[in-house]
Amino acid sequence: MNPIKLAAGAKGQSALLNRIGMITKRYGLTPAKMQRALDQFVKTLRQFDCGATFPATAATVERHPAVLEKYQTQDIEFAVHGYTHVDYSQLAPEEQLTHLHRAREVFAAAGITAVGFRSPYLRQSNHLYAAIEAEGFSYVSNQPILWNVLDIDGLTPTGQAGYQRAIDFYAPWEASKRLSLPQLYNQLVEIPVSLPDDEILIDRLGGNTDSITKTWQSILSQAHQQGELFTLQLHPERIARCADGLSAVLSEARTLRPSVWIARLDEIAAWWRARAAATVEITSSGEGKWHVAVDGPRGATVLARQVQIDTSTTPWADGYRQVNGTTFNVRSPLQPCIGISPGATPELASFLRQQGYIVETGVENRRYSYYFDRAEFAAEQERTLLAQIEETDFPLVRLSRWPNGARSALSITGDIDALTLWDYGLRLFGK
Ligand SMILES: [Zn+2]
Repeated sequence: MNPIKLAAGAKGQSALLNRIGMITKRYGLTPAKMQRALDQFVKTLRQFDCGATFPATAATVERHPAVLEKYQTQDIEFAVHGYTHVDYSQLAPEEQLTHLHRAREVFAAAGITAVGFRSPYLRQSNHLYAAIEAEGFSYVSNQPILWNVLDIDGLTPTGQAGYQRAIDFYAPWEASKRLSLPQLYNQLVEIPVSLPDDEILIDRLGGNTDSITKTWQSILSQAHQQGELFTLQLHPERIARCADGLSAVLSEARTLRPSVWIARLDEIAAWWRARAAATVEITSSGEGKWHVAVDGPRGATVLARQVQIDTSTTPWADGYRQVNGTTFNVRSPLQPCIGISPGATPELASFLRQQGYIVETGVENRRYSYYFDRAEFAAEQERTLLAQIEETDFPLVRLSRWPNGARSALSITGDIDALTLWDYGLRLFGK
């Protein structure tokens, strides 16, 4: 599909014309206007001592190689947002590889390190993921996930139609059914991106500062409750309308307890990989006595519930205490971890480990606090399985999903599709 049709499909034709009007306000003939937007974005982030990830289209970087590099010293990570702003799922595998390779070269020539990829229009395909992996990226952030935070019935008919068009276009996961968490996908970490984003809230729903703030705060609150990740999408060209909302979310995130880990996508990907590879040994040291030894990345946090521990702990959340140490002894009638049958699908153990649970394969089902034997495990069953573990209170020692005792995570991201009006115009022709 050509980019104009794709954009019209995503937004609707009249919305596309409206958008062309808005675009001329947001971009200038030189990158100066976007640089001011980026400066305002970074200034807002600095007030809360945090960084962000800006996926940028490489053809734009190629036309203005000196604009972005300096932000790297200001806690900004750049990721690749295509070589050009086209639907990558529609390209042949060799074209995908060529594009990704050129994008890497352009970034390197501009002095920008990029380890992540986000597709234009968040498009995905198996071939594309193989190409992203082959080009040595470490993560991809393409999976939209929709939070139930808007009063759809309260929207105007135009708002409802625009919203529905966005949902049909992105076909997002629903946060009530799927987890808003990174997951290992072969050699990549896939990091979901949260909807509604700034584009839906402003261009489609005509949102104001108040509604943007409320929507984002509500996602933050749900993500915190569930211990999940809120990947906020705010295209830098809309920062003027959204700076107050961004400040409100960051300010709230800084006050929540247990804390919210605010991190860039590269940090989140590296953490998820390292924490999932941590090893925890729980060995019997007598009747009802267990020795626990954790070998994990810096910041790895041990949580425990319904066990007696011989080292200091502090209250955490959800019935857990945070253990101040990585080697300790516990008393528990059951081995305080999750047993898995040797016949269970490997996906089950992989999923549980990624959540921070300590998993052991064994046949004695009565030995463990929890024991699962599932020949098949589908993503749609993840929430139910977690509820089975978290809504009961058998003895358990586990790792926290996030570092340094954080309960949830927040990542600020903003795609840079263009730096000037010219870039934006060329984008519509797939350049
Ligand atoms: Zn884009």
